[in-house]
Amino acid sequence: MSAKNNKTPDNLNTVEENRKAKEQQEQKALSDRLGKIRHKIMILSGKGGVGKSTVAANIAVSLAMEGNKVGLLDTDFHGPSIPTLLNLEDKRPGSDGTAILPIEFSEGLKVMSIGFLLPNRDDAVIWRGPMKMGVIKQLLTEVNWGDLDYLIIDFPPGTGDEPLSVAQLIPGSDGAVIVTTPQNLSLNDVRKCINFCRQVNVPVLGVVENMSGLVCPHCHTLIDVFKTGGGKTMASEMDVPFLGSIPIDPQIVEASDSGKPFVYHFAKSEAAKAFKVVIEPLMAMNGRVPESKPESAATAPEEEEKTDTCRIAVPVVEGHLAAHFGHCEEFAIFDVDLEKKQIVGRETAPAPPHEPGLLPRWLGEKGVKVIIAGGMGSRAQQLFAERGISVSVGAGSDDPEKIVLSYMNNTLELGSNLCDH
Ligand code: ADP
Repeated sequence: MSAKNNKTPDNLNTVEENRKAKEQQEQKALSDRLGKIRHKIMILSGKGGVGKSTVAANIAVSLAMEGNKVGLLDTDFHGPSIPTLLNLEDKRPGSDGTAILPIEFSEGLKVMSIGFLLPNRDDAVIWRGPMKMGVIKQLLTEVNWGDLDYLIIDFPPGTGDEPLSVAQLIPGSDGAVIVTTPQNLSLNDVRKCINFCRQVNVPVLGVVENMSGLVCPHCHTLIDVFKTGGGKTMASEMDVPFLGSIPIDPQIVEASDSGKPFVYHFAKSEAAKAFKVVIEPLMAMNGRVPESKPESAATAPEEEEKTDTCRIAVPVVEGHLAAHFGHCEEFAIFDVDLEKKQIVGRETAPAPPHEPGLLPRWLGEKGVKVIIAGGMGSRAQQLFAERGISVSVGAGSDDPEKIVLSYMNNTLELGSNLCDH
């Protein structure tokens, strides 16, 4: 037997140790990379063809049009359609020698798709599961997005092994937006999708009903083609937020086929306005609201006076951030101007009694939009996300004011979830 094949217990131990060390290294690289991204949002659907990629692309473009730094990552092996939707089919990502550089689609929007790595559109279909996951892991660890406000991730459709594995690769995501059409068949799939999110502890940020009625191009009335409203009823039955309805608009197909971002080129259409409603809770995670673009210069002075304010809460014990969220003594609540990166007010509120579900309601009523914590359980994170409150976990036990200032300046270092119960 050659020395190479000599599998003694010692050798096996070393192999196991090396494997573990490599896994830890990869996990750290992934956390470092994703740590620079404030909000990671997954776009899911119970099945294909409901407009998931269209919604993902238009949410990303809408957020970028509001001045956010956005990344759009397409992990849908079976139909990576983002390159087609944004006319990027001939583009290939570059490299800076150490990392893959996403394609800069426009100011504020970077794009990466599994489609850029496939010589032929159908290639990924024959890949085996582990190979697909390896590529996704590589996309997540090796793409240098830089600092982002949002990463919008277009998922493979369904609730099978693939979306499950991709979800597990994205630690600390804010949650999922689930896209459906109004028909019952599609709604049943969404119920499965919500249950899937609950099983893997991914908060459901909300449901979008796409292809919800047709806006008549002549009289602009909404024609109820597939019986609209099912998405809203289902969301309320399943106790998840409803984010809005996007009507059927033939211009969406036209824009998608010619690779023009719909919400940008048809900004005045009903469907583009509907996308603005959908991104509202996502903008609120960053303590902002979508701007209504001034129709004319006459409205400009009003715009100038607008401030970009937000309420941020930090759990406190003995004057420092409390590592155990549920056991803090009080909350330091800051009013901040995100634009000027300044604290404009501070309130200290004694923590309410430790009762299940009370904190999300209490902080929500106080108008808090962001929580910076040391650690928090996934169920609690889910409850906050469902109230439109964004949670950043992994902050160190420091002076709350310092933490809030670093958060606004994008220099807050977030480690792992200090206490996840
Ligand atoms: P999925 O990602 O769920 O498979 P796509 O985003 O690829 O679905 O959309 C499927 C088709 O439906 C595309 O041709 C797209 O242009 C079209 N589409 C999506 N949403 C709308 C809409 N609201 N109105 C009209 N066409 C739409």
